[in-house]
Amino acid sequence: MAENESKELTLTSGAGRRVLLVEDNLHNRRIFAGVLTHYGYEVREAVNGAEAVELAKASPPDIILMDLSLPVMDGWEATRQLKEIPELRQVPIIALTAHAMAGDDERALASGCDGYLTKPISPKRVVAEVQRVLAGLTPPPREG
Ligand code: MN
Repeated sequence: MAENESKELTLTSGAGRRVLLVEDNLHNRRIFAGVLTHYGYEVREAVNGAEAVELAKASPPDIILMDLSLPVMDGWEATRQLKEIPELRQVPIIALTAHAMAGDDERALASGCDGYLTKPISPKRVVAEVQRVLAGLTPPPREG
């Protein structure tokens, strides 16, 4: 699985593009921020939806990785608020969904997210999805 995945993912440099990483889980945050930084992205981190909205307003990112299950303000509400701000409406959002929450993937897309990743997520998959969405590519067909 890991071997196949590394073969199919062609990762290129993020070239300093700014990613806002919204994730309350410290372990995930460290891993995702680490791999994105490794590939040349500039990463800012928020630990809840309210902080994400404030950070995005203060310094608009090129793309947002949005965990949906967050304290204070969840990812659904943060996405809704971000999409109501004219200067931020075009910023793509990739939802990070929990495998247990069936239907969250379709719901994320319906809510205006441009992509989603279902946990557990391999670090390289995060980079590949950011790369795909920034390139404006169509998503791969759903597996299973
Ligand atoms: Mn969470």
